[in-house]
Amino acid sequence: MPTYGFVIDQRRCIGCHACTVACKSENQVPVGVFRTWVKSVEKGTYPNTRRHFLVQRCNHCANSPCTTICPTSALYRRKDGIVDFDNRRCIGCKACMQACPYDAIYIDPATNTAAKCHYCAHRVEVGLEPACVLVCPTQAIISGDLDDPASRIARTLGRENVAVRRPEQGTQPKLWYVGAETAALEPAMFADPQGGMWSQHRDTSHGGHGQAIDLTALVRASGGSRGGGPGESVAAGYLTEGGQVNYNVAHETPWGGLVSAYLWTKSIAAGAFLLMAAALGVGIGERSALFGTAAPALALVFTLITAGLLVADLKRPERFYYLLTKGNWSSWLVKGGYVLVAFGAVSAVSLAAGLLDVGLLDGAARWLRWPGAILAVLAAVYTAFLFGQAEGRDFWQSPLLAPHLLAQAVLAGAAALLLVALAGAARPSELVFLAGALGVGLVAHAGFVAAELYTPHANTHVALAADALRAGRLAGRFWLVAAGVGVAAPLLALALGAVGALPSGIAAGAASVLALIGLLAFEDRWVAAGQSVPMS
Ligand code: SF4
Repeated sequence: MPTYGFVIDQRRCIGCHACTVACKSENQVPVGVFRTWVKSVEKGTYPNTRRHFLVQRCNHCANSPCTTICPTSALYRRKDGIVDFDNRRCIGCKACMQACPYDAIYIDPATNTAAKCHYCAHRVEVGLEPACVLVCPTQAIISGDLDDPASRIARTLGRENVAVRRPEQGTQPKLWYVGAETAALEPAMFADPQGGMWSQHRDTSHGGHGQAIDLTALVRASGGSRGGGPGESVAAGYLTEGGQVNYNVAHETPWGGLVSAYLWTKSIAAGAFLLMAAALGVGIGERSALFGTAAPALALVFTLITAGLLVADLKRPERFYYLLTKGNWSSWLVKGGYVLVAFGAVSAVSLAAGLLDVGLLDGAARWLRWPGAILAVLAAVYTAFLFGQAEGRDFWQSPLLAPHLLAQAVLAGAAALLLVALAGAARPSELVFLAGALGVGLVAHAGFVAAELYTPHANTHVALAADALRAGRLAGRFWLVAAGVGVAAPLLALALGAVGALPSGIAAGAASVLALIGLLAFEDRWVAAGQSVPMS
């Protein structure tokens, strides 16, 4: 069995785009999306400038994050090393677009399913070369069997100095470049990776490509100097040399408001159940309408809304059940789907027990309380593992994300339960318990955000995303709504209520409303920040 890969010799590339056109023709790739394209960058300062090309496409990674995250195995690695796709299984969740660090995947507007370079597998299977290889007038693109020492690709790899894109991602790409310019390989090196003449500008509404990167932010992210510092930038040495991207066709930002809203509703659901279990654990929730009925009702309703938002965000929502019937168990989308189903079921039993007051049901609900609390924790934090599988988004790879999501659940659950408690007749001990939980959740949330933004960053991509929130184009709503309205104001309201400067009910109600508004704004900015750094 051969193992296929590509070598692209950029010294030979003349930027004619014939490979792009041949690929589009061979694979019927619609207008506006690309399986391969020729990025063009200019480097230097006039008159000492030079143009560099970089042919971009799927790298057919040996350790492919796209196949790991794909919930239905629509993307899969063949025995011959080609990473192929089966659009009949694709539900259009766009997770693969977040996982691929090379921006190789797009949503086909004709089918609403993911697509990318598949090495012209249909041609290779009958002994032909990929269309791009055949058409290239300078033989810059080399395909073939990496395991055959006599093949041109194996001999080229043995002879030349080669480079891959983003080797630190650990994807083991099987696309090697000869003579590629570093400035073309690393998208974070340019102020606007979509800029320059002939560019196709795409969606910029949610922090997508086409937004200018603040170069001073890059220097700041690098510890304020060129070289060294926690977020040492590969670009730092280049910033003073000038340069621009002439042509690039990065794909659109995949996740937007529905994903932010899903994080928010899931926090409310998980937090409400968790606080119910905690209240019962400390003996203040027994025989309580708030914790016996309202809390499981909140958990169930917001779990159902969460599931609805997940389905609504799919490009093929009618295929949502593939998540369960064709599930790829390496994907946290699948694991999370089962967690939500189990959590919803436990919430429903708990609610039924609270409403019906039937002995058997009550016994089941009591028994399910602690497994339910574990499911609530899993429902709150599994997204950290899902975002962790989105390997293309370095900002989301934080080890703090799981505990941070738990803190958000406590915050959101406490705020939602407080509003229900204030609307009905709650016991004073319950109000004190929930106000305390809200305060703890807010302080923990603020602490995690501060740690993410102000402690050393793993690399330049993380530093750029953090800087977009701190001082860049995402900073306005982040500081005003997510931090000011969402954290500072509710903490102030709780403090005024505690010292009697405000009636405690008004203070708790205002704090809850503000905290929920702020958390939703925070999720929106957080999702946008992760996607604000270009991948190609
Ligand atoms: Fe191709 Fe990207 Fe998947 Fe690697 S991660 S195999 S480049 S689609």
